[in-house]
Amino acid sequence: MIEVARLTKRYGRKLAVDDVGFTVRPGRVTGFLGPNGAGKSTTLRLLLGLDHPDGGTALIGGRRYRDLRHPLRTVGALLDGAGPVPERRGVDHLAWIAQSNRIPRRRVREVLDLVGLTGAAGQRVKGYSLGMGQRLGIAAALLGDPEVLVLDEPVNGLDPDGIRWVRDLLREYAASGRTVLLSSHLMAETAGTADDAIVIAGGRIVAHGSLDDISAGH
Ligand code: ADP
Ligand code: ADP
Repeated sequence: MIEVARLTKRYGRKLAVDDVGFTVRPGRVTGFLGPNGAGKSTTLRLLLGLDHPDGGTALIGGRRYRDLRHPLRTVGALLDGAGPVPERRGVDHLAWIAQSNRIPRRRVREVLDLVGLTGAAGQRVKGYSLGMGQRLGIAAALLGDPEVLVLDEPVNGLDPDGIRWVRDLLREYAASGRTVLLSSHLMAETAGTADDAIVIAGGRIVAHGSLDDISAGH
């Protein structure tokens, strides 16, 4: 469960996130939708403790990110710009994250298999296609088998097969009773994946409900 309340973030005079509040429930895929610059990434960064809010709270399982006892076992995230070292092999990138978070080594093999990267695990990341890099990022997010999955624009750069694969993975994850929040600037891309949607524009929440209702109303 994700609970965001009265969240505010300024960059200089710009209110990037303006009194944002929403709840994301388990067992469903929730889309976090809005145009570029709407405040999606900023909200997700605040949720994941990568930045401090000017006001309000962002909680995962009732705690702020930095107060989580096992962060990676609680929440897995795919964010922009948090890529692996290009010189590293895919498998080593995951092994390093696993080791620094006390996740059993065998889990690396499991997630590589889950994302279909077993064959490419020994290659250096700099040789990966965009889609392979995205799969590796998702593998890293899944390492801790987290209760909550947060993905910022997960299908960017993926071909239709890749998009379908992400959709199936997220639907399966949510069906197992976990919480999935995925941001996207494309509403159509999220249809068929998300059950619910939270729509943000200009830093403010403008709609929150079932994706069908929201699509119909716009
Ligand atoms: P989205 O993810 O929806 O595209 P962002 O959260 O990245 O939107 O950005 C929201 C607003 O905050 C935009 O106007 C963006 O330019 C601004 N912004 C985001 N990060 C910074 C930053 N580090 N410094 C200054 N402005 C920022
Ligand atoms: P520092 O890095 O200086 O130790 P803190 O981690 O103590 O900063 O956080 C700075 C401020 O931001 C504190 O008032 C803290 O309560 C607040 N803060 C940080 N993360 C969150 C969050 N997810 N929700 C609400 N407040 C937060």
